[in-house]
Amino acid sequence: MDIRIDQLSMVFDKTTAVREMTTTIQDGELVSLLGPSGCGKSTTLMLLSGLYKPTSGTIYFGDKDVTKLDAQKRGIGMVFQNYALYPHLSVLKNIMFPLKMQKVPKKEAEIRAKEMADLVQIGHLLDRKPGQLSGGQQQRVAIARALVKKPNVLLLDEPLSNLDARLRLEMREEIRRIQQEIGITAIFVTHDQEEALSISDRVMLMKDGIIQQESAPQNMYKKPENEFVASFLGNPPINLMTITKSKVADSYRLEDMDQTINLPALPPTELQTVRLGIRAEDLYISEDNPIFHGKIIHIETIGRDTLIRMQVGGITVRALVDPNQQLQIGDIHGLGVHPESIHYFHREHGKRLP
Ligand code: ATP
Repeated sequence: MDIRIDQLSMVFDKTTAVREMTTTIQDGELVSLLGPSGCGKSTTLMLLSGLYKPTSGTIYFGDKDVTKLDAQKRGIGMVFQNYALYPHLSVLKNIMFPLKMQKVPKKEAEIRAKEMADLVQIGHLLDRKPGQLSGGQQQRVAIARALVKKPNVLLLDEPLSNLDARLRLEMREEIRRIQQEIGITAIFVTHDQEEALSISDRVMLMKDGIIQQESAPQNMYKKPENEFVASFLGNPPINLMTITKSKVADSYRLEDMDQTINLPALPPTELQTVRLGIRAEDLYISEDNPIFHGKIIHIETIGRDTLIRMQVGGITVRALVDPNQQLQIGDIHGLGVHPESIHYFHREHGKRLP
């Protein structure tokens, strides 16, 4: 079922947690809500669930306006960070619980619960109590319980936060598999960018209650629409600097520094001063055609790559470089970049310059 959100706002006392949000989530899509702490992710999810009622705006599930509808009547399944299982009930009874509430006959409820348990691959654990399960298994039970009523929409609030790194990886693949197998529309709240980028059809990146960008994961990484998106996504973080046109035609200077930057192409703007962003992996050591020179102040190995930090005038620039190069702290090298890997942003409002 598709979801339409129209001019949705939620104000608590003095805090606007969600600000005039308008967007659409397609039927069967998995959309991540991503952003720093306090940006309004959980509030958005609570508004979709019906546990909060908005200050203004409208939510549609399909053609139906559900804004004023209570949570139980919306046809949603929810999965939380802390699993929220009933500790005294067996796995089977936990999964059957929502059906019991709906007064589904016991035989039928048991058949449906077992089907769900098989789907999430815990069919062999039905008699156990939650306390006798691993974190990943408990989250599988929570997912089965959320899905057993055959909801139209699945809402997941940081469902992997309590799992260790390996289980997180395994469970995020599992959530994606299950979501695709039943074709349910799903909204996944996380503050973990890698999780959001890997699991979703589309990512909505929020800040201060406003969606900063919504797009397919790769597109958001490759074409950030503003400086906040560029700086939020990516590890190591993107290199950002201010450049100003100097008096000599077509040359630019790094701000507050006696350093000229030899851009491979001119910025797409008439502005005198712009912000420039280059990701660490887009820089390479180049003595022939460098954009600037710097002194190596730090070298570390990250997986297969070598991350170096360079002092370029008054700023530090990070570059992921070929690990086979012989580099030493204190060396001075040039750094090159492909023109298409440079991002430009407006200095005041931060919007991407085309
Ligand atoms: P986190 O990642 O830390 O969970 P979040 O992105 O989910 O953050 P929200 O919990 O939606 O953010 O909070 C958005 C803003 O609204 C914050 O400034 C928060 O303090 C405020 N807020 C959230 N719930 C309430 C509430 N019940 N009463 C007052 N303010 C609230």
